[in-house]
Amino acid sequence: MSHQPVLSTHVMAVRWFHGKITREQAERLLYPPETGLFLVRESTNYPGDYTLCVSCEGKVEHYRIIYSSGKLTIDEEVYFDNLMQLVEHYTNDADGLCTNLMKPKLMEGTVAAQDEFSRSGWALERKDLKLLQVLGKGEFGDVVLGDYKGSKVAVKCIKNDATAQAFVAEALVMTQLQHKNLVQLLGVIVEDKSSLYIVTEFMAKGSLVDYLRSRGRSVLGGECLLKFSLDVSEGMEYLESNNFVHRDLAARNVLVSEDNIAKVSDFGLTKEASAIQDTSKLPVKWTAPEALREKLFSTKSDVWSFGILLWEIYSFGRVPYPRIALKDVVPRVEKGYKMDAPDGCPPVVYDVMKQCWHLDTNQRPSFRKLREQLEHIKAKELFQ
Ligand code: AMP
Repeated sequence: MSHQPVLSTHVMAVRWFHGKITREQAERLLYPPETGLFLVRESTNYPGDYTLCVSCEGKVEHYRIIYSSGKLTIDEEVYFDNLMQLVEHYTNDADGLCTNLMKPKLMEGTVAAQDEFSRSGWALERKDLKLLQVLGKGEFGDVVLGDYKGSKVAVKCIKNDATAQAFVAEALVMTQLQHKNLVQLLGVIVEDKSSLYIVTEFMAKGSLVDYLRSRGRSVLGGECLLKFSLDVSEGMEYLESNNFVHRDLAARNVLVSEDNIAKVSDFGLTKEASAIQDTSKLPVKWTAPEALREKLFSTKSDVWSFGILLWEIYSFGRVPYPRIALKDVVPRVEKGYKMDAPDGCPPVVYDVMKQCWHLDTNQRPSFRKLREQLEHIKAKELFQ
C-alpha cells in the first residue's frame, strides 16, 4: 500500500477524551441518559487530574482520576499507566463504579488515530515487531530498539495520555516528511487501544550531542564537523521549503546513523508555520529572542537555533553560553551579546553562526543560503 500523508488536524489518540470541558458541558454531552455512556475530561478543580463521567440510571456520576507519580487511579487501589488502560479495565469490570463502561461518547469532528493511520497506509502490525532493549528516554516515554521483520528500528512507546495527543501529532507531522537528513517514520502501531508506538529508522550512533562529546577533538576532524553541519542544513532546507517550523532544533535532537549521516529528529513541536504555542517549556539557550518574547516562531527562529547548533558542533557538544547563568542569557542576548567562536573554529564558520544570530529576523539567511555557504566552505577546504 502506498503511503499518504495524514493531513487531518483532528486525528485523536482517543475519541472519548474531551479535554477541558466543565461538569455541566459533560452532563449535556451525556444526554439523553444511557447507562454505561461515558467520557473523560480534564478536571477543572484539580489541574493535572482527569474526571471520568459515566451515565448511570438517569444520573451522571463524576469520578476523579488522580494522577500521582506517573500513575492514574480512581480508588487508590488499582493503578494504571494511562487513561486507555483505565478505560479498558472499567469496561471489563465496574469494580466499584456505578456501572461498567459500555459506550464511549465520541468527540465530534474527530477521527480515531488508529483508523486514520490504517487508511493512509502507515499502520504496522504489532506481531511483526519485537522490542529488544531501551535506547533512551524521550519526552513522551522510552525509546526502544526493535526488530521489525528482520530490520533494526527505533520505537517510541507512549508513556501516558497526557502526552498521547502530542505523540499522535508528532507521528502526523512525520507522515508528511521524507528526506535523507530527517529521521524517517516507518509506521505507527496502535495496540488494543492501550498502547501507541511510533516506529522510525534506527540511528545506530545515537544523538549528535553525545556523539560529539564522546569522540571529541582527538577523533573528529574539521571535515567531519562540516559534514554534520551540512547534513543538518539540508534537512532544514527541506523543512523550510515545505513550510514546516521545527521549534526545537538542537544537537540533542539530531541523530547519527551507522554511516555517519546526521538527521534531524524530534518533531514533537514541529508545526506548519504560524501556529502558536506555550513558550514556558522552551529551551531558552536555543530559542530565538522573538520566539521567547512574542511566540513568533518561523523558519528564521529555526535559523537562530541552527546557529546555536553549529556552535555545539564546533565546541564538541558543550552547553551553549558557558559561564552565563540561565536567567542572564535572554537579557544579554537581547542587548546584542553573541557567543565567542569555539576554540579552533574556522572564522568562516563562526561568521555563519553570527549571521544566524541577527536580532533582526530579516537579516538572518535562509536555510538555502546557509546550505550554499557551507557547501562553499567545504569546496574551499578541499582545495587547500
Ligand atoms: P527523543 O525522544 O527523540 O529525544 O529520544 C531520546 C533518546 O533516545 C535520544 O537521545 C537517543 O539516544 C535515543 N533515540 C531516539 N530516537 C532514536 C533512533 N531513531 N535511533 C536510535 N536512538 C534513538
